[in-house]
Amino acid sequence: MGNASAVTISLHGNRKSDKTLKAHFNTKRNRTTRIKKRFLSIWKTFFLHTRRIASVDLLDIKGDDLHHSITITFEEMVNGVEKHVLVKKKTRCGECEGSRCLRGTVPTRCWTCYGKGVTVIKNGPYLEEDPCTKCHGRGMTIKHKCPNCFGKGLILGDSFEVFRIPALVENGQVLKYEHRGHAAPSSYSGTLYLTVNVADHPVFKRDNMNIESEVAISYATGIIGGVINVDTLNGLRQVSIGPNFAHGYSMVLEQGGLRDSKSGKVGKHTIKFFFKSPENVSAEEKQLYTELESLQ
Ligand SMILES: [Zn+2]
Ligand SMILES: [Zn+2]
Repeated sequence: MGNASAVTISLHGNRKSDKTLKAHFNTKRNRTTRIKKRFLSIWKTFFLHTRRIASVDLLDIKGDDLHHSITITFEEMVNGVEKHVLVKKKTRCGECEGSRCLRGTVPTRCWTCYGKGVTVIKNGPYLEEDPCTKCHGRGMTIKHKCPNCFGKGLILGDSFEVFRIPALVENGQVLKYEHRGHAAPSSYSGTLYLTVNVADHPVFKRDNMNIESEVAISYATGIIGGVINVDTLNGLRQVSIGPNFAHGYSMVLEQGGLRDSKSGKVGKHTIKFFFKSPENVSAEEKQLYTELESLQ
């Protein structure tokens, strides 16, 4: 073998001494061995991984994640709120407590895989492990299933949940609650993802930590001035309007916006004023407007 290869090399003009050729083949053999070892390592990793999944599948794996959404008011967003809601989710069966078995019975060892959860298949020179098709990797079979959950260990139903929604949550923000998703028969529950929608407010609009609102004033107040009530986050506030007030004027209440209790940061409240045309003008008012028009 070695000589034949040496002849092949010499035919290509690579004239080397016996010592050089020996070193060349040793290097080549080492490299082949390394590749084989590497391949075996990958093969082992892959099948060990398959075996792990096979034995863990449906037994120890956590419950499914759950997605739910709620809508809160603007005021609830400002202060944070505790919401009590009904959520459709899988909980552990109260009859069998997740064992899947009829009360008083226990699972029996799977005789297809002898309790290993995997079956060995010969594939050419290799032995491959596949999840047992009889017990689906559990290693156990249930002869007498729980009649309440039909052997699933879980029941889908309404679950009463309490969520503490923090203040200043953004519209559409998703809150994550670990271990509050769907239950698993013999492991911990999945994650619950709660999408929080914040309903529009009839007066306030949010811009990060700041808020904006629009306030209508009459032409009369705009011309001669007066005091009007303005909605703020802290309730009604009286604001004085000077004479000859301009349409589109805005005022800013510093510290009137949203308050972050952790950082102490407070936004501002911008109030935009606009003139509103009077509705349902009476005959007397019409007469006064006519007189005003003639004066101008
Ligand atoms: Zn059950
Ligand atoms: Zn089996």
